[in-house]
Amino acid sequence: MSTSVQKLWVDLNQELAYLSSEAGPTQLFTLIANWLRAKAQIIGDQKMTRWGLNFFLNITVDDYPHELSELAVEDEIAAFQSLEPRDIDTFLMRVRDILWQSIVLISDRTCPRCGEGLETLYDPDLDRPVFSCRFHRWAEMPDRTEWGGGMLVPITRQNLKRFGLLREPN
Ligand SMILES: [Zn+2]
Repeated sequence: MSTSVQKLWVDLNQELAYLSSEAGPTQLFTLIANWLRAKAQIIGDQKMTRWGLNFFLNITVDDYPHELSELAVEDEIAAFQSLEPRDIDTFLMRVRDILWQSIVLISDRTCPRCGEGLETLYDPDLDRPVFSCRFHRWAEMPDRTEWGGGMLVPITRQNLKRFGLLREPN
């Protein structure tokens, strides 16, 4: 493991140590996004782009249904802290996964291959929601036909409402 990856990992772990044990996905997202913003220059634009990390720096977290995230914050942090990343790409991929899961809504739909809940995502080119498995290359359209590919991002609160996908809290 190169020194710079280790430094970044240790640095982020120190930040995470300040997070309250009560913290939810929203606090975790904000902490990591702020950390990433401060480190973006060190990480470099090529790596930031490769892992789609600029997306998280350019969004307003409240535009996303972060309060509905099913991310188990304590478990996620423990896993992150217990495993030293072997290289910068592994590290950035894990950072990205945590940010992603902090703002993604798991739908009522399940993956036909593994039975896990599909993530509710959005295809900006089609302007349609897409439901995608994070463990498999499976993504489907609202009518359950297979998605044709392209770019997917977490869906905003506004788009969830527009497509009638937001379950209002009781
Ligand atoms: Zn699956």
